Amino acid sequence: MAKEHKYVYTFGAGKAEGDASMRNLLGGKGANLAEMCNIGLPVPAGFTLSTDVCTYYYANDRTYPKELKKQVDAALEHVEKIMGAEFGSPKNPLLVSCRSGARESMPGMMDTVLNIGLNEKTLEALASQSQNERFAWDSYRRFVQMYGDVVLDMKPKDKRDADPFEKILEEVKHKAKVQYDSELSVDQLKDVVVQFKKMVKEHTGKDFPTEPMEQVWGAIGAVFGSWMNDRAVVYRRQYNIPHEWGTATNVQAMVFGNLGNDCATGVGLTRDGALGLPGFNGDYLVNAQGEDVVAGIRTPKRIEIELPKEMPEAFKQLDNIGKTLERHYKDVQDIEFTIQRGKVWMLQTRNAKRTGFAAVRIAVDLVNEGMITEQEALQKRRIPADDLNQLLQPIFDPKAKKASQAQGKLLAKGIAAGPGAATGQICFHASDAEALHEKDPKVDLILVRRETSPEDLRGMRIAKGILTAFGGASSHAALVSRQMGKVCIVGCGTLDIDYHKETLVVSGKTLKPGDWISIDGFSGEVYEGKVPTKPSEVVEVLLTKTKKPEESETFQRYAQLMTWVDKHRKLRVRTNADQPDQAATALSFGAEGIGLCRTEHMFFEHLDEIREMIVADTRESREKALAKLLPFQRDDFAGLFREMKGRPVTIRLLDPPLHEFLSEHHLQEQPDLAQKLAKSLGVSKETIARRVEELKEMNPMLGHRGCRLGIVYPEITAMQARAIFEAACLVKKEGVEVHPEVMIPLAGFLSEYKNQEAIVRAQADAVFKEKGTRIDYLVGTMIEVPRAAIVADQIAQAAEFFSFGTNDLTQTTLGMSRDDYGGFIGYYQEHDIIGSDPFQTIDKDGVGALMKIGVERGRKSRENLKIGICGEHGGDPATVYFCHEIGLDYVSCSPFRVAIARLAAAQAALAK
Ligand code: ADP
Ligand code: MG
Ligand code: MG
Repeated sequence: MAKEHKYVYTFGAGKAEGDASMRNLLGGKGANLAEMCNIGLPVPAGFTLSTDVCTYYYANDRTYPKELKKQVDAALEHVEKIMGAEFGSPKNPLLVSCRSGARESMPGMMDTVLNIGLNEKTLEALASQSQNERFAWDSYRRFVQMYGDVVLDMKPKDKRDADPFEKILEEVKHKAKVQYDSELSVDQLKDVVVQFKKMVKEHTGKDFPTEPMEQVWGAIGAVFGSWMNDRAVVYRRQYNIPHEWGTATNVQAMVFGNLGNDCATGVGLTRDGALGLPGFNGDYLVNAQGEDVVAGIRTPKRIEIELPKEMPEAFKQLDNIGKTLERHYKDVQDIEFTIQRGKVWMLQTRNAKRTGFAAVRIAVDLVNEGMITEQEALQKRRIPADDLNQLLQPIFDPKAKKASQAQGKLLAKGIAAGPGAATGQICFHASDAEALHEKDPKVDLILVRRETSPEDLRGMRIAKGILTAFGGASSHAALVSRQMGKVCIVGCGTLDIDYHKETLVVSGKTLKPGDWISIDGFSGEVYEGKVPTKPSEVVEVLLTKTKKPEESETFQRYAQLMTWVDKHRKLRVRTNADQPDQAATALSFGAEGIGLCRTEHMFFEHLDEIREMIVADTRESREKALAKLLPFQRDDFAGLFREMKGRPVTIRLLDPPLHEFLSEHHLQEQPDLAQKLAKSLGVSKETIARRVEELKEMNPMLGHRGCRLGIVYPEITAMQARAIFEAACLVKKEGVEVHPEVMIPLAGFLSEYKNQEAIVRAQADAVFKEKGTRIDYLVGTMIEVPRAAIVADQIAQAAEFFSFGTNDLTQTTLGMSRDDYGGFIGYYQEHDIIGSDPFQTIDKDGVGALMKIGVERGRKSRENLKIGICGEHGGDPATVYFCHEIGLDYVSCSPFRVAIARLAAAQAALAK
């Protein structure tokens, strides 16, 4: 006979069938209860129904495998033996709890029932055994309430509604003129129970179950059922936890924190989770059970302050347990415990959640304390690379934020697109921002827009933060904010912005320019008024130089961490920067080159000249206009080369469709523009209008842009190439090494690439001859249309480097416009059609597969082909891991993400 499948795993009395490595099967709670048992910590005996049961339950119409009952009976008997009590016995009753516990902790998302096994008979035995009738009735009333809420589904469906049981409890307390339930007498508790049961009967049409076995199975069913409750489903979606994992259920002997004043229940951390300060800390409540601590019914006491005085013996036990746990798990633990008559019982432990600040401090401290190695400190689970951001951004003082919330000042919530905290006065137009800035350079502004466009750049640069009503995580506002390191919230749909009336209506309030708001780029929250912030010390040391390294412990830990990071990573990290100040910022965060300089951003500074070039309809007049642009471009490039001091600088030739610089929309917004252009070019206004009309495209993203511009108008490419090489020669002459890499955008055919390459090389030769010097340079291409990846072997015959432009590659591979996907991406994510936003994290199976093909075929033609990525994805940790896997040489990302990408690169290199 085949051995039957094992569904149930016991623990207790210093031995367990499971251990910490079995969290997929036993859930985090079950696996760690087993582990704590194994290492000799005091854990009430119990057993775990594995996640296999959950899988079976949902695959089989919410039924259990047939072997389960027998296994549960046997496990219960095992617990009875250890605890010396009997489940359901009217003389010596065992009570149990029934607790959910998934692979990843999902705090508060699923259900737990305590005191299972109580009825009027076992209650009497409990009362006489404990010599405490009040305790017995208190436990019973808690049981009926929890069972009613969780198993009988009487919990209010709307979180604004009061729990029906709480209502009754409130009334009884009110009548008894007491504040806390711990002050109710036995008779009053009895009255509560009678009323509870009456309500259960009314609600369910059945009597409250008195049979202990029926109770336990009811609770098990409720725990497995809670895996699919709305809260849990939404939580999993948010944290990318697969629905298939399922939860385990733990049945565990009860210990009691409500037996009197030498009893308590509590939760704590072995170190502080907000800032990472060492030392046990947490909350506890005397004479209380289970959820009372977090429920906020009574204000708990601080463990580190009160417990050593109130229960010194118990505190010592707890402190020792904390140390044992940290040594064993090599990480900060978040624990739940109960003190029964002076003895500490452990009910849960897990690696503590922590902020980015705490994560860095704890990881570095643990290395310095000799508990972990530097490789371990860099593990993803210890410091999620993204969380490093918190060290770089000013933050809202958490206390102040809470206070604002309490005062009803939370206005709206959007997509958090640029992390940090910003407070400023509302300003609707970039031009207004500039004017205000002119008057007072210290003015704090939040640029509030329906959406942003390249023309808003100057305003964005001045503003402390950017808030938009539309657009997603790779909208213009989001992209630029990240590059500038600005706080930004996008897609905040409840904002009603009226540019004409100059009003922002939200949450029933009408705000005007000049009104103060605060935006939290970590959470996407928008607050009315000023919420005080704190600056990042790391930035103060590295960038603003307003602090010395020795003045900031936070910086010192950051610096220590980053030396380990650089020791272990293989990928190089460059930055996307168009201007010397951005390059300087990136350098201070450790950038090793520029992976993308977008030349069009420079053009927006010289709109008159570029517009002249655009409306010109002969080669000669175009060249004349371009000649005016040349010195500006040369200065810009020279500035970048100087700043980068010999590090490679990749410059992309002009990419966007020309009508971004000049279109109908511009002519309308600036009534005198057509006239001005006509005059400076010596043509009629009608000619201007006709030229603008010609430029209009139905689908500009797939239109006349990228290398297609430089092919049709070779003089543009020639001017840009000349500017690059003249700047390079100039800076070289100043004694600074230069390594320009000229990048052709949007090529899909080898012939396109070659066409542009020829122009670039011809200019290089010409300039070198004129200046009597030579510069090492590369010419390469972006891989941003599927065809380019597929014919990478052909393109690499000529191109000296590749850079994946994953914004366009995603757009063209998915056939999904990043300007228009906002309309459905939210729905897609909510309905599990696709997991993460493909414009934030590489779509590995699709876009990623093309990248792999591009790498393989490219290196087939050119073995040492240098390959990088310069799309927005380059700063996304998951994408960085992927880039490491497929063997790229570098990633390039916005300046404020450089440190994050470095950490992610190290994590990728260390992952097995
Ligand atoms: P959650 O996952 O929501 O934290 P738990 O299953 O951990 O739910 O239960 C919540 C609390 O109930 C625990 O922190 C503990 O205080 C209490 N509790 C659970 N089981 C027992 C038990 N066997 N004895 C005493 N208290 C328990
Ligand atoms: Mg818990
Ligand atoms: Mg592109």
